Order: sequence, then C-alpha cells, then structure tokens
Amino acid sequence: MSQASNVFDVVVGGGGPAGIGAAVAAARTGKRAALIERYPVLGGMGTAALVNNFCPAHWDGERFIIGGVFGELRHRLIERKAIYSLKPLPTTNPILEPYNPDVFAEEVATLCHAAGVTLRVNTKITAVEFVNEQRASVRLEDGQHLTTTTVVDATGDALIAHHAGVPSTFGNPDTHAVMPLTFCYMIGPIDLAAARAGLPEAVRYDEVTGETFFYFSGWHPVVDQWVKEARQKGELSIPRDHISAIVSVPGQPNYATVNFGRVTIADPTDPAQLLSAEAEGRRQVEEGIRFFRKYIPGLQHVELVQLARQIGVRETRQITGLYTLTAEDVLSCRQFEDCIAQCCYPIDIHEPGKDTTLMKHLPHGAHYDIPWRCLVPRSGPDNLIVAGRSISATPEAMSSFRVSPAVLAIGEAAGVTAARAVECCCAIRNVNPADVQQRLLETGAILA
Ligand SMILES: Cc1cc2nc3c(=O)[nH]c(=O)nc-3n(C[C@H](O)[C@H](O)[C@H](O)COP(=O)(O)OP(=O)(O)OC[C@H]3O[C@@H](n4cnc5c(N)ncnc54)[C@H](O)[C@@H]3O)c2cc1C
Repeated sequence: MSQASNVFDVVVGGGGPAGIGAAVAAARTGKRAALIERYPVLGGMGTAALVNNFCPAHWDGERFIIGGVFGELRHRLIERKAIYSLKPLPTTNPILEPYNPDVFAEEVATLCHAAGVTLRVNTKITAVEFVNEQRASVRLEDGQHLTTTTVVDATGDALIAHHAGVPSTFGNPDTHAVMPLTFCYMIGPIDLAAARAGLPEAVRYDEVTGETFFYFSGWHPVVDQWVKEARQKGELSIPRDHISAIVSVPGQPNYATVNFGRVTIADPTDPAQLLSAEAEGRRQVEEGIRFFRKYIPGLQHVELVQLARQIGVRETRQITGLYTLTAEDVLSCRQFEDCIAQCCYPIDIHEPGKDTTLMKHLPHGAHYDIPWRCLVPRSGPDNLIVAGRSISATPEAMSSFRVSPAVLAIGEAAGVTAARAVECCCAIRNVNPADVQQRLLETGAILA
C-alpha cells in the first residue's frame, strides 16, 4: 500500500450506523474518506450484536422524519425484500422494522463503495495522535498508519475522544451505572402454523416480501404471565419482566432473532468485565431457549442457530459537548436552530439493577431535534467530532436517540461537518451549522 493512499481528509473510527452515515456523507462531498471497523462486517450493533431492527425513531405516526442515508438504505432493503417495513399510514402503530442482517451489511458496503469510501475492516484503531488543527495520525492494529485532516469518533464508546482528553460522563451521573447488556441470538425453525393457533397476534403478513412471519415485541398480558410463572418456578433467572423481541428475519421467516437477556456490569469498556458478561449472557441464551420451547406456541422445536458476534452494549460514555441534550428537551419535543437530525423514539431505559424498562413516549405526530452542538466536544482536539450514541446527552436523552435510524442521521451530520471543516480549513467548532444543514437538506435529510 503506497503512502499516498493512506492520506485522507476524513477518517471515521467505527463502522456502526453512525460511522456508516458519517463516512458516506463525507465521501459524497468529494473528500477522501476512510471507514475503519474492527469486525469483518459493517453495521455495528445491528450486525455484530444481532440487533437487526430499526426502532421507530423515523416514523412519528404521521410521516417519516428521518431521510438521508438512512432513508436510502431502508429503501434499498425494501427493494431487496430484506425488511418488514412500516406502512406509511396514519393508522400504523410504530413497530420495529426487522431487517436481514446479511443483506444490510451487503447494502452498507455497496453504499460505501459507491460513495468512494475507503473501507478498512477487520482492523482496529489502536491510537490517534492529533498533531495539529489540520492533521491527525491514526494507527491501526494491522500496522497501517493513516494521516487525516479530521477524525469522526463513531466507536460507540467515544474511545478516540476519551483518549484525546475530551471530557465525558459515564452512565448515571450519581451512580455511574449503565444500562444492562443483552446477548442476542437467532433461533429456528419456528412452526408458524402452531404460533398462529396459540398466539395469533404474533403472526403477521408482509405485503412487500410476501412472507408470513413471527413478530413478538414488548409487553403482552399472557406472555408476561408466562415469564412471571417461569420465574416463580425457578425456570427463568433472567432479570427481565418481559421479552423485548422475537422477530423473524426477512427472507428466512422461520428463523427469528431474540432480544431477551439482561446482564449488568459496571464498565462495558473493560474487556475483562465484558468477557464475564458474555459468559452470563450465553447462559441466559440457553435458559431463554428452554423457556421458549416450553411456553411459546410455535417455538417448541427451536434450536440456537446463531449467537451474535458480541454481547450488545447499550450505554457507556457520553462526551461533554457544546450542548447537552436532556430528557426535558426530548419530552417537550424541543426544536433547535442548529438541528441536524430528528427523532421520535421514546425514552427507553433498561433500568440498571432492575427487571423493568422505563418508557416515556412522545405525543403522536411529534418529534424532537438533535442539535449540532451535541456532536462537538466542548474541549479537546480542534479536528475531532463525535457521532452516534456517545454524543453529549444525559442518560435519559441518550436512551431515546441511541436507536439505529437516529444515530445514522447523527453520523451523517458528523461526516458533513468534518468535510466542511476541511473545506474551510477551520476547527470543527468553527464550522457554521447552517452550512451543515444546507448540505443535509440538499442530500435528502428531513430537518423540519
Ligand atoms: C441489545 C441491544 C438491542 C438494541 N435494539 C435495537 C433495536 O431493536 N433497534 C434499534 O434501532 N436500535 C437498537 N439498539 C440500539 C442500537 O443498536 C445502538 O445504539 C446503535 O447501533 C449505536 O450506533 P453507533 O454507531 O453509535 O455504535 P455501534 O453500533 O456500537 O457501532 C460502533 C462500531 O465501532 C466499532 N469500533 C469500536 N471500537 C473500534 C476501534 N478501536 N477501531 C475500529 N472500530 C471500532 C465497533 O466494532 C462497532 O461496529 C439496541 C442496542 C442493544 C445493545
């Protein structure tokens, strides 16, 4: 690899939804953009942790409020019959949109290639040195060394920002507790006829794919009672009062991915704690499958088909930015002048140390804005911006916008900002957010 090919305008660390949005958006401005992902596939939690659903942050009950790169990707999945999509009707209750994780990863790679993003997967960023306002040096695990003008931290944990001295908070401001982790997995085969007979509301039909599929998510009087009963009998020790999701994989409707476990640790950025969480998560997978076989109609014969590459991490670090988004901003549907993304997903806190989940919904047809200032570190390197779940926010606010449609839109704005800083030869914080908004609107984002 020649030295010239390792020189970039924008380097994005982390190929989750935020990193994908950032890299594609930066490359589309004509900048030399690289996306570095430690796993062999892109997608972050969506693929590596088998969290293959879009939570309805993008549909407010009346209209779509997130477009841009997310909208394009979603459209491609619809064209490939790889998503059970919402119907754009006022009557539609917001539901998860399950997608096929393999097709998702393929489409993301196609988007990146088409935009001209240089992909470096299966290698980790091990160090970033911010040399000056216009230059950073990025070291990869495989020995490569990249030079770039700007850096987007989309690692989920604000890892690059943390090491660069950007101030941050960790979990709850008083206790530092973070939301529990969940090891997701795929099960099958599901007997859809038996499911229809015993739990008819869990069987749906999708017109676009022509598939009948299993869809169970959230609270349900009968199923919650089964969970309670199994816990009382000692058959279930998972500290959770309901099943978050068992949802078919588009293209393979007799197979479903499951979000049910709950593991609490103090610090998911600590490899040793993560390892022990994975051991407990795996035990919960086995327990969950035994429970499904005994109690849930249609799941009597399911086996473990695939375990996620890693346990899913919901929360770690939030940077301290030029503005910190709060629960009040979310619940009052606050609009900001420097809005770079919108979100209508509820506050959704998996309560640390408890078996409950706290949900606070926004009114039907309403959303809140995510201000550009939340992505910009209050102090630290001039050429660093943060994208994704680790932007500046209180834990309550983060529990809402952390879902993949919203973080993808946040990432897109971070990529546009990084590109703009290169064009203006200025520090990230001196980019005019109105220029970012203009570019986002020109490329299909929805900001009002
Ligand atoms: C169990 C669970 C269930 C969820 N359910 C849903 C759901 O149903 N729907 C929904 O929309 N959202 C859901 N979410 C939320 C959503 O998946 C995440 O919040 C979202 O993926 C965060 O995006 P991100 O890009 O900020 O970070 P991530 O998705 O975490 O991506 C960060 C990426 O950076 C990479 N990385 C980290 N460090 C380095 C490094 N040093 N070098 C290179 N790469 C690095 C990681 O491998 C990863 O791919 C769930 C999350 C969890 C944990």
